[in-house]
Amino acid sequence: MKFSQFTEYLEKLEKTSKRLEMFEILSEMFKKVDKNEVKPIVYFTQEQLLPPFYGLEIGMAESMIKKALMKISKESEKDLQALYKKIGDMGLVAEQTNQNNPSKGLTIGEIYDCLYNTVKISGEGSVEKKTDHIAELLKKCDSKESKYVVRFILGRLRLGIGDPTIMDSMSKAISGDRMALRKDIEKAYNLCSDLGWVGEELFKKGIDGLRSFKAKVGNPIRMAAAERLPSAKEIIGKMGKCAVEKKYDGLRLQCSKDCDKVEIFSRNLERMTPMFPDIVEGIKKQINANTAILEGEAVAYNEETGELFPFQVTITRKRKYDIEEKAKEKPLVLFAFDLLYIDGKDITREAYEDRRKKLVSIIKKGFTIRESERIVTDSPKELDEYFEESIALGSEGIMAKRLDAPYEAGMRNFNWIKLKRSYKGELNDTIDIVPIGYFKGRGMRAKFGIGALLAAVYDEKTDSFKSIAKIGSGLTEDQWVEIRKLLDKNKVEKKPARVDTEIVPDVWTTPKYIFTVMADEITLSPMHNAGKVGEKPGFALRFPRIQGWIRKDKKPEDATTVKEISQMFKMQKRVKAVSFGR
Ligand code: AMP
Repeated sequence: MKFSQFTEYLEKLEKTSKRLEMFEILSEMFKKVDKNEVKPIVYFTQEQLLPPFYGLEIGMAESMIKKALMKISKESEKDLQALYKKIGDMGLVAEQTNQNNPSKGLTIGEIYDCLYNTVKISGEGSVEKKTDHIAELLKKCDSKESKYVVRFILGRLRLGIGDPTIMDSMSKAISGDRMALRKDIEKAYNLCSDLGWVGEELFKKGIDGLRSFKAKVGNPIRMAAAERLPSAKEIIGKMGKCAVEKKYDGLRLQCSKDCDKVEIFSRNLERMTPMFPDIVEGIKKQINANTAILEGEAVAYNEETGELFPFQVTITRKRKYDIEEKAKEKPLVLFAFDLLYIDGKDITREAYEDRRKKLVSIIKKGFTIRESERIVTDSPKELDEYFEESIALGSEGIMAKRLDAPYEAGMRNFNWIKLKRSYKGELNDTIDIVPIGYFKGRGMRAKFGIGALLAAVYDEKTDSFKSIAKIGSGLTEDQWVEIRKLLDKNKVEKKPARVDTEIVPDVWTTPKYIFTVMADEITLSPMHNAGKVGEKPGFALRFPRIQGWIRKDKKPEDATTVKEISQMFKMQKRVKAVSFGR
């Protein structure tokens, strides 16, 4: 597909924020792609050069684009700067500058390869070389192509297309039906975290290729998540005999070992390898297998007392500088709790108990890598006792696991059930929200220019962000200033794509950052759209307050879902009924 043809789709996509329209446009587009181009097209649509786990940053600034434009036009830096100041979009500046340039008809694959090769340039003089490459590329582009190339490079396409929409569109393009292949596409995606690769397999090998899709060492597997239940009795009622593991309050890490090469991924599948040299060493020394993918929770550990440090201490290990010193000062222990891949084989379909046996058998004794502690029981009383004991020793609670369950990548279901300490009347769990806008403050807050966030949760069914609360407490004054600056970077004029709310904040922002929030209660409210169906009111949070700072390990779609909120709401009613003796 010619890049110029692709830009026509981008133009249409840009004009809509309705998911259904985006889906129609993308389905048309996928019908026209050549099977060798699926990968770059998917990446472009996702607004990335490669999936985040490759850790490849485009890393080109506006100043580089400006220099490239100077090279190919007669404009001076001053003129370009003035134009940029006036229209505020480097893409439009490129469009205007390159107004009379004819297109050389590059294909999407050619543009992708050129950008990829440019980004890979490193070492001395790399900035200059990159600028030259971009200038050469822009010489081959007409004005519209230039606009989108530049916006892509700077991360400003802002189409707001979610992965579910891309998956639906591919399903429709191949099968004629939006849902026919959707589950299979998603399953494969969950196993490799690379939608470009999945798309390529689908377009090249068809549905059979997709159904026999297997995890591959080096590609992170989307992590499984837990459901909640309010009591030991209900957990045993649901699962029968199960494993009850300690729930460690640290950082969830997925470690992949390919002989001497170890990679570590965070919960949102970003590459964290350089941050945890101690765990990399631990995996190399203590994991007795050529290839393996294992998961665990990393917690800062006090060797002298045998105590686990709280999350606030563990999180200090997430840093860009002084990594080695900090690793010595606060070594991490990885409490491994699952094995997903071993010696060339994807074992996610095997039962938990079998995977666990294999996991235990490959861990050599040592400081860093240990198996998570657990009991196996069918007694609510025993579960409760273990829960109390775990909390006393610094855990957050327990995680119950069905013995015969496969590892269902990317799924939240009752294969795992978490139980945390419930505070009187309060929610027994935190909620992860994503800001979709903010209100300018009044009174004291006016000087910061921000008084409250408009917060949303994620609705998986419609792939949209639905409002649930206005939040004005929990941050320090400095943090309010900081968050306003961050949100301003993602400011948009009108309600962003995939955002669903009736409330209009002073400033809209595209969903990007996750904050963890504690609230007293989930209530019903006609104000908010989370869970709202027709006349039925939505959910709202009573006395919400932010805890900590941006959850960098989560992406917007990892926000708590409407379905979870609805379950928490029901559970809250049950807990209340119990505590009032009814
Ligand atoms: P939550 O973040 O409260 O939804 O709980 C799920 C998280 O608990 C997982 O993502 C893990 O990071 C963490 N966790 C701690 N201990 C375990 C364990 N033994 N098994 C599974 N997850 C655990």
